[in-house]
Amino acid sequence: MTTPAKRFGLYDPEGTFMLIRRLFSENAGKYVGRYIVAFICMGLVAATTAASAWIMKDVINEVFLNRDKTMIYLIAGAVMVIFTLKGAAAYGQTIILSRIGNAIVADCQRRLFARVLEQDLSYFDRTALGDLTTRMQHNTNAARAVIDMVAVTLGRDLLTLVGLAIVMIVQAPMLSLFAFVIMPPAVMGVSVLVRRVRKHAKSQFVSTTRILSVLQETALGVRIVKAFGVEPRMDDAMNAAVRDVERQSNKIASLTARTSPLMETLGGFAIALVILYGGYYVVEQGQEPGALFSFITSLLLAYDPAKRLARLQVNLNNSLVGVRLMYELIDDVPALTDAEGARDLVVTGGRIEFDNVVFSYADSPALRGLTLTAEEGKTSALVGASGAGKSTLFSLLERFYDPQSGAILIDGQNIQTVTVASLRRNIAVVTQDTFLFDGSLRENIQIGRPEASEEEIIQAAKDANAHDFILEQPGGYDAPAGEGGGNLSGGQRQRIAIARAMLRNAPILLLDEATSALDAESESKVQSALERLMEGRTTLVIAHRLSTVRDADQIHVLDRGKQIESGTHASLYAADGTYRRLCELQFQDG
Ligand code: ADP
Repeated sequence: MTTPAKRFGLYDPEGTFMLIRRLFSENAGKYVGRYIVAFICMGLVAATTAASAWIMKDVINEVFLNRDKTMIYLIAGAVMVIFTLKGAAAYGQTIILSRIGNAIVADCQRRLFARVLEQDLSYFDRTALGDLTTRMQHNTNAARAVIDMVAVTLGRDLLTLVGLAIVMIVQAPMLSLFAFVIMPPAVMGVSVLVRRVRKHAKSQFVSTTRILSVLQETALGVRIVKAFGVEPRMDDAMNAAVRDVERQSNKIASLTARTSPLMETLGGFAIALVILYGGYYVVEQGQEPGALFSFITSLLLAYDPAKRLARLQVNLNNSLVGVRLMYELIDDVPALTDAEGARDLVVTGGRIEFDNVVFSYADSPALRGLTLTAEEGKTSALVGASGAGKSTLFSLLERFYDPQSGAILIDGQNIQTVTVASLRRNIAVVTQDTFLFDGSLRENIQIGRPEASEEEIIQAAKDANAHDFILEQPGGYDAPAGEGGGNLSGGQRQRIAIARAMLRNAPILLLDEATSALDAESESKVQSALERLMEGRTTLVIAHRLSTVRDADQIHVLDRGKQIESGTHASLYAADGTYRRLCELQFQDG
């Protein structure tokens, strides 16, 4: 048997009570002033509701029994005042709470996104986009719902109930006793439904995430989906997810709805009892009926807030599932951050050393004791079969991941001891698939160095052989890049990436050569732009062409996460080892 403390989660940090406390202290704290005004409004709603029940006594006794004319006007006036006040207070409360609610949603969304931005790459390796989308949209609204529920139910409904209870006790103490005996079992009955709702709400979230994942997969892989005719498979996956959400929603609906008949029946019993006892009291004992009417009015008015209060736990638990998931993300502190006392990286020449570096993704080993040196200002080509660890080497150098053992040094400084920002500032990257953001071409180049001037941007574009084709676009530098750069050819996108790197003007350049063949003209333009870019920088290039390796100062041959050969083209070719075989098999222009 769970104790009430446990059921309300008084000690459990995942429990109801602790979660609500956290929500309020983190989000509602800023709005104390406005909450006070809202509570005053709620107090007014409660007081006017109680007053409207109270005045029934005089309506019956003075107007109908005593037929007092002046009282008619007085009471009618009072009723008008009471209800006007109530309306105004309810309006004020709704407006204030809605504004606070919207601010809280916005706040949570900002916090969530800031956290997502902070995460390292391993986080994105293990998190589906659908999961993030749901958390951002649903779960922040759940936070708002919980705060609203607690504020309105505990504020307005509880105050109203207290006000009405006072009226009942004063007007008919004996009858009140009956009413108060009926309430607790109703509340208990409702709380039985709570845990079941919680379970279903959680699986509903999981299924919603699946819907988004399938949708995303279909959108991103639409060419493959259509080309290979896997529409039925996507359809099945979607159907299954949608069916699950539907089923869970139905379960939740029926559990929530079950509180209604429960309350209805008990409410009916209570009212019947009151009529029996009250009728006896007026008819047999000849008492004035005003107090009885006032009591019945209170009881009827108490019914709705009592029902909401009884349901509070069910509804709260439903929404708290979302809040829990939101906090799960907010509390997911990224593992990869600046070390304590980290200083900025100081690049003097740009010599890069990998010293016995071991690294695995989740379970799959990628680097198994990699040792290599890239000399300052020189071009080092990385070659090796697919899966040898070339891209992983780049990721580790940019500190998207930290190695499990070994060290990576730049000019003698371990990159784990310097600030991440200074490290990345000193590295420019040009990859095969250039990602263009939804913005103008100018903005896409400016990413290289946001504070760059217009002249610098244009110079970078010229050096990257991009200036001419940019001017040919409608709008020139203001032309939209289109989401993902759909408006530009592969070669043009690469030249934008080169311009970005030019602008960054970092001493270290990581270059992943394009594997897909470009047309001859594009090819030579990309090539000459790259040569200009590489000048005087320490360049690591994942090479896919013979011409690149031939021109490189040093070639590193990687195999299953290790360097197995290293030297110049001539020396390695003559050695007749792995490199020679790679040359014969792999290079596009070989
Ligand atoms: P290359 O660039 O030489 O083709 P990679 O560095 O991409 O090699 O890959 C090295 C190994 O790490 C491969 O076995 C690959 O499957 C694995 N790998 C690469 N990226 C990931 C990732 N994000 N998650 C899990 N395994 C990965």
